[in-house]
Amino acid sequence: MSKYWSPLAASLVPYVPGEQPKNKKFIKLNTNENPYPPSPKALEAIREAANGDLRLYPDPTCDALIRKIADYYGVRPEQVFVGNGSDEVLAFSFAAFFNPAEPILFPDVTYSFYKVYAEFFGLKAELIPLNERFEVPFEQFERQNGGIVLPNPNAPTAILAPLDAFRGLLARNPDHVVLIDEAYIDFGGESAVKLVHEYPNALVVQTLSKSRSLAGMRVGFAVGSEELIEGLNRVKNSFNSYTLDRPALAAAIASFEDEAYFRQTVERVMLTREAVTDKLRQMGFHAADSGANFVFITHPKVAAKKLLDSLREQGILVRYFNQPRISNHLRVTIGTDEEMDAFIAALQTIL
Ligand code: PMP
Repeated sequence: MSKYWSPLAASLVPYVPGEQPKNKKFIKLNTNENPYPPSPKALEAIREAANGDLRLYPDPTCDALIRKIADYYGVRPEQVFVGNGSDEVLAFSFAAFFNPAEPILFPDVTYSFYKVYAEFFGLKAELIPLNERFEVPFEQFERQNGGIVLPNPNAPTAILAPLDAFRGLLARNPDHVVLIDEAYIDFGGESAVKLVHEYPNALVVQTLSKSRSLAGMRVGFAVGSEELIEGLNRVKNSFNSYTLDRPALAAAIASFEDEAYFRQTVERVMLTREAVTDKLRQMGFHAADSGANFVFITHPKVAAKKLLDSLREQGILVRYFNQPRISNHLRVTIGTDEEMDAFIAALQTIL
């Protein structure tokens, strides 16, 4: 606490990101990064951008990337917004669409940044508990609200919900935005992007950090009706009109141009995920089917904290969850086959 801080700064409870170790000795399975590099075409585009006009500001309207994303998803460019990682797109969405007069709804448990943003923007939040199978209870979201935020698949549970559940919610909530955070949708889920043609209140947010291996470049985007995208642009242009830098724009465009590489790496991660889930179940872990690039696990006989600490001693980082609704769990990012073999071998020394 400092006397120089505003009441806002003093009141904040900031998000704590997963550990990013400064040396490379760890196998990193703690922040849901992709174990494979970005497309070689994206890397080449970054080199070209770096050799190009970095002294000039980037395109403030991000036209070329927006057109690329619009083509890719079969929507109009006026229906696409891009930002510095989906975290920024989420922040702008909270500012643009949610009204402090009514509570916004999101699940308990979910991506913990939602709560941080709600507090930052002075919004009331109502947290809707997951059911006993850790699924999102869609019927519980049918209540008075000022907007809804739902990730699909949810994090950290990795559980996917069917698109029909979103259709119902969107139809019965026409006066408020339903934000669907699809950070992990490419790992086997069906995207809600197609719903933006039917529902003007649907905002679908995605990222290039996971399935496209560009976490280090910070690129996220939203697809929605023109009026929602216009709302996001109002917020963006009142805050920082140059959101994406030149290398990030170039890398993102090139990534969408390399569909074969994208499919190949996503499929690789999904195959590894299925093999690892089988092995973990054979070892006595409970693991729900995952629709993401991570698995969420607990062992009935061994404390997750013990596993976390011992894995760390063996050079492997995973994320530990011990909250009232999800106690004694680990979230483990899917790495390469070699990394996951090392993870399983490390577990075998503990169990
Ligand atoms: N949404 C969810 C559900 C996430 O897990 C993450 C990654 N931590 C993000 C959004 C943000 O991703 P990024 O800012 O890298 O696009």
